[in-house]
Amino acid sequence: MSAQRIVVLGGGVFGATAALELRRRGLEVTLVDRTAGPHPDASSTDVSKMVRMDYGSDVFYHELAEAALDGWERWNRAGDHPLYHDDGFLVLSSTPMSPGGFEYESWRVLRERGYEPTRFDRSSLRARYPLWNAEVYPDGYFSPRGGWAESGRVVARLLAECTREGVKSIVGRADGLAAKGSRVSGARIRVPEGRMVDVDADHVVVCVGAWTPALVPSLSSVLRAVAQPVLHFGVADVDAYRGPAFPPFAADIAGTGWYGFPATGDGFVKLGHHSDGSPVDPDDRGMVSDHHVERARSFLANAIPSLAGAPVVGSRVCLYCDSFDGDLLIDRDPDRDGVVVAAGGSGHAFKFAPELGGIIADTVTGRDNRWAHRFRWRTTGRAGSEEARHTSDQGPTQT
Ligand SMILES: Cc1cc2nc3c(=O)[nH]c(=O)nc-3n(C[C@H](O)[C@H](O)[C@H](O)COP(=O)(O)OP(=O)(O)OC[C@H]3O[C@@H](n4cnc5c(N)ncnc54)[C@H](O)[C@@H]3O)c2cc1C
Repeated sequence: MSAQRIVVLGGGVFGATAALELRRRGLEVTLVDRTAGPHPDASSTDVSKMVRMDYGSDVFYHELAEAALDGWERWNRAGDHPLYHDDGFLVLSSTPMSPGGFEYESWRVLRERGYEPTRFDRSSLRARYPLWNAEVYPDGYFSPRGGWAESGRVVARLLAECTREGVKSIVGRADGLAAKGSRVSGARIRVPEGRMVDVDADHVVVCVGAWTPALVPSLSSVLRAVAQPVLHFGVADVDAYRGPAFPPFAADIAGTGWYGFPATGDGFVKLGHHSDGSPVDPDDRGMVSDHHVERARSFLANAIPSLAGAPVVGSRVCLYCDSFDGDLLIDRDPDRDGVVVAAGGSGHAFKFAPELGGIIADTVTGRDNRWAHRFRWRTTGRAGSEEARHTSDQGPTQT
């Protein structure tokens, strides 16, 4: 019997991990994206993403991240150089951490599960992290189990592995899915010359992130594209802003949305900001506004004064593919046999990369998967509604 033919649409972290895992299970896999390498507009294509187990009281995501961390270390051992950096995760709070709050609950879950995050008060914060303004943050902790991944490079490496292991690649944009009766029969791809190419498949795996509602309109009330700004602040003394003195951080994140990363070798500190935001057209996402730059400077002046005057050397509007409840969506389309959707990263899926391929491949092949129950198909959401979003957590799921 010939191998099942799978078309994976989208080569971000969901698509690349899915294609690789499906191929390793012996299936015939074709991966389609608009460019051969990581697409510059993909959410996965960025210098860095946070990898953390700190999820408030949500033990499910804590455990998923815990499993993924083992995977990141495995990938580091297998690669010729590490793309995951175990610099830990610094959580700062401008009010005393208290039960029910994101920071306190994350700290509590870590401790209950045998980890040893270091708690701070003003004086210990000042002593250990002098770049931070300890007057602003009376409380917080550092968790050594976590760090950040060089996300764009991770995807590039995964795509190269796909090619090496026999995943076929088509450069083009999927215009729609083809069907025979109620079963999918492949995808229609517009290739760069403008021609349409039909690719036959037994299963189509839709991994197009923020573009999902365009290909699966029934999910347009469940998933939405939301623009989130990222700024790069140039630093002359790179070493001062990395290593133990400047780990990845979330600064009062449930209230303010600010988070950031150690300086890159290229000499900048990346500062991100998440919010519920407003929906955008993924192909017309706009630019980071001057107003946002001012807000970022005012945060820095207060929190990390030495960066307040640093020049903005780069900016990017990145897209969350937000589900209405903050959970990923990885499941079979109940209305179309042979279609699996893997999307809804909701601003926090990259860290799970080492687990994603397995979850998606199990969904395609009908195997049980420990994590899949949380990512089931949902239809009743109103994407972004205030009452639905993140009600199960005391703080953000994002980053
Ligand atoms: C600002 C920001 C910060 C974040 N920070 C973190 C973090 O710190 N930690 C963390 O874990 N996660 C983080 N995330 C979330 C994480 O980046 C995403 O959840 C994840 O990258 C989504 O991957 P994806 O494969 O679903 O989508 P994408 O990476 O966007 O990939 C989708 C791909 O589909 C392709 N595509 C689109 N339409 C078509 C089509 N019609 N045909 C063919 N191909 C198509 C695109 O070109 C693209 O390559 C962040 C996200 C943003 C925006």
